[in-house]
Amino acid sequence: MVLTRQDHSISRKDISENTLKVLYRLKKHGYQAYLVGGGVRDLLLNKHPKDFDVATNALPEEIRKIFSNCRLIGRRFRLAHVHFGRDIIEVATFRKQVEHAHEEVAHSAAGMVLRDNVYGSIEEDAWRRDFTINALYYNIADFSVVDFTGGIQDLKDRKLRMIGDTATRFREDPVRMLRAIRFASKLDLSFSDELVAPMLASRSLITHVPPARLFEEVIKLFHSGAAYPAFEQLLEYGLFEALFPQTFACLQDDVYPTKALLTDVFTNTDKRIREDKGVTPVFIIAALLWHPILKLAQKYMDDGMSLYSARLKAMEICLSEQIKRISMPKRISFGAKEIWMLQSRMQNRAGKRAERMMLEPRFRAAYDFLLLRSTSGEPIKELADWWQVYVEADPSERRNLVKKASGKPKKKKRKKEDTEKK
Ligand code: ATP
Ligand code: MG
Repeated sequence: MVLTRQDHSISRKDISENTLKVLYRLKKHGYQAYLVGGGVRDLLLNKHPKDFDVATNALPEEIRKIFSNCRLIGRRFRLAHVHFGRDIIEVATFRKQVEHAHEEVAHSAAGMVLRDNVYGSIEEDAWRRDFTINALYYNIADFSVVDFTGGIQDLKDRKLRMIGDTATRFREDPVRMLRAIRFASKLDLSFSDELVAPMLASRSLITHVPPARLFEEVIKLFHSGAAYPAFEQLLEYGLFEALFPQTFACLQDDVYPTKALLTDVFTNTDKRIREDKGVTPVFIIAALLWHPILKLAQKYMDDGMSLYSARLKAMEICLSEQIKRISMPKRISFGAKEIWMLQSRMQNRAGKRAERMMLEPRFRAAYDFLLLRSTSGEPIKELADWWQVYVEADPSERRNLVKKASGKPKKKKRKKEDTEKK
């Protein structure tokens, strides 16, 4: 099906200038050039696309010849990146899905596609994509939208439907389950009927995905602006358990207010994105592992370890358990550790400590986290209130606050706040 220029709402002024340059230049050199994927989908939904992907029948080498500012990248498949300063336009050659028995495609034992670098026609390119709404092509030659898989109707019905056999497509690439949740929650779509059962049946396959890829996907999911609904769906489909087993255990045993903390963190992340404020994976990782750390540290303390050593050891163990499933760049785990360490340090406010702590690069994140811990039900209200007043006070008031805080019997107070459970 083809929607002509009059039949759809996409206008060239909604497409970034650099993307248009790439499309026109490909066309000028005699190639087919289309906008595809999330860009077309979001424009048809009257949303502002995050980025634009270009698809063409030009081969990577041919693309490189017509763009001086072009680099070829990709292990899984070759892609061209056209650079305009910091803006990068991704240009992909049409490719087809290679059938299972075919020798050109590598499969893992579990049926996952490892390489699929075989070029094809635009129609073949459409059928190898994940969801029908992601397989719509905007043609720069006549400004029409081309639909091979029924995506336009599904967009109208606000349905997320897999292209091809759902169970097979989840088996080929279990990350599609996370993508399904991301698109459904971000775009407020419902799953087509055939999606639900295979999703439940395939959930354990998510553990076969390389941990580094999972990190990328999980962060995309939590930074999509709909982290909270995504979290609920991860739970509903049994994926949260597979991704964050230690956190899931805390949700189950309910020793700490884990559900409340995560609800607050995710709704807060969504709010920050709505308000165009910065978000970081560090904060989300810090929140997800916080209760597992408290729980494990408590066990070590019961065995006689000091609070400081117990927490430190628990951080290391919980992180190393987590990265078996989802690996993360060092700067992320370091950042999370800084937030966790500051949680303990913030209890000790005597002398110049509070003042110095405020100069720490992670102070703001640690402070925000402390407030979230308090509002979600950890018994640290007094401490959180103190910091809130302190942060907002002027220097002379701050001195008084420090006196007040250090006047209390420190040892006893610290013990109470740190070891007390819900
Ligand atoms: P976003 O708004 O997050 O960028 P997107 O749909 O553009 O959403 P990308 O990851 O940029 O997502 O992928 C671009 C397109 O490539 C998708 O729209 C889809 O057609 C195809 N695609 C991406 N990942 C997969 C996958 N795992 N399996 C099949 N097709 C995929
Ligand atoms: Mg995209």
